[in-house]
Amino acid sequence: MADDTQRRIAEFIEPLRVTPGSKVTLAKDFDPGYKADFVKKKDGLEFLQRGVELMTEYQARLAAQDTYGVLVVIQALDAAGKDGTIRHVMSGVNPQGVFVHSFKVPSAEEINHDYLWRYTRDLPGRGEIGIFNRSHYEEVLVVRVHPENLTRQRLPKEARGRDVWKRRYRDINDWERHLADNGFKIVKLLLNLSQEEQRIRFLRRIDLPDHNWKFSAADAHERTYWSDYQKAFSEMLTATSTEWAPWYVIPADHKWFARICASAVIANALIEIDPHFPRVTAEAHKALEATKVELEAQAPKGAAPDPFASAAVPAAAEPRDAPQKTGKKTRKKAAKAAKKAKKAAEAEKKERERVEQADRLAGRETEKETLREDEREARTVERETEAGGEVAGKGAH
Ligand code: AMP
Ligand code: MG
Repeated sequence: MADDTQRRIAEFIEPLRVTPGSKVTLAKDFDPGYKADFVKKKDGLEFLQRGVELMTEYQARLAAQDTYGVLVVIQALDAAGKDGTIRHVMSGVNPQGVFVHSFKVPSAEEINHDYLWRYTRDLPGRGEIGIFNRSHYEEVLVVRVHPENLTRQRLPKEARGRDVWKRRYRDINDWERHLADNGFKIVKLLLNLSQEEQRIRFLRRIDLPDHNWKFSAADAHERTYWSDYQKAFSEMLTATSTEWAPWYVIPADHKWFARICASAVIANALIEIDPHFPRVTAEAHKALEATKVELEAQAPKGAAPDPFASAAVPAAAEPRDAPQKTGKKTRKKAAKAAKKAKKAAEAEKKERERVEQADRLAGRETEKETLREDEREARTVERETEAGGEVAGKGAH
């Protein structure tokens, strides 16, 4: 992959990263309306597309290598766009290797265990990407803002003291360090929404019939605790952004920009892992050749013994596997095989490029469709606004 893209992505996400050890005041340090140098949504689409493409490529390698796993943690207040971000960011990946887990109010069984138990149960395995829609961080957010949640957890007295949050930060940091040390990369995203944008999105959910299902009066009531949440977020970012699992604060007032940021941070994590397809050893290659001979011998009458023979790279063409014979006949045979292999490799490369190009075009179509959908939605809002005159300002999201 071009170093240039790597560098661009790394530079792009740098302002979003919470420097480990720094003291964060969310409202002061991170602007929910930030959009880097992108003025309009369409300027950012190419970057988003590239991020999704990178993820497609790296996820395939991550799965094949089967050594590292990735845990993506997404936290946010209601209406910040968690679900949409997950949908967009993962649009290019193979669903076999990606799992999304949403954490709600804990069940009776979950509350009967230590508070990290349910999150441990749903961790990704090696080769997999796991996404936590809400996560163990709820244990220092909603549980902190509403202490009755802590009461429900039936902790012994010695675990309930005034330092309970400090202890939880320590537990979480230690747990994440253990995971990181054992091959699991943790990507933590906080979607940072402004209070005014949340108000507008709630109104949109109320005013547009198709969106009513998303609205709950309890969510709106939660706005009463806005400053408590801001404080809990700030402390969480200060205490748990570590070298092994740093936080990224994603500006969430522009949904399209939030999606670009989230996919860039995840792509960057995959680039850092840099997973590779496993190499076939010389021995395994020999075994393949032997099996090939057997399969060819089983061809029914009239059928080609091996329809892919022309694309195959003969073992003799692999320099590290080539027998060190110097006979003229052997050399000639090897040269011929090498030429054939080169041709086949070129044809394969061309085919790969053709498929990639087709994928890219298909991806672009999907993006265009999303754009069209968003525009349609925006127009609906505008119409309803004009008709009802009730929805204020920028409801087009
Ligand atoms: P939603 O994501 O809108 O489906 O809502 C899930 C709800 O579960 C939110 O109101 C969260 O605050 C709540 N929730 C998630 N984790 C916990 C937890 N550990 N303790 C209490 N409530 C939680
Ligand atoms: Mg909700």
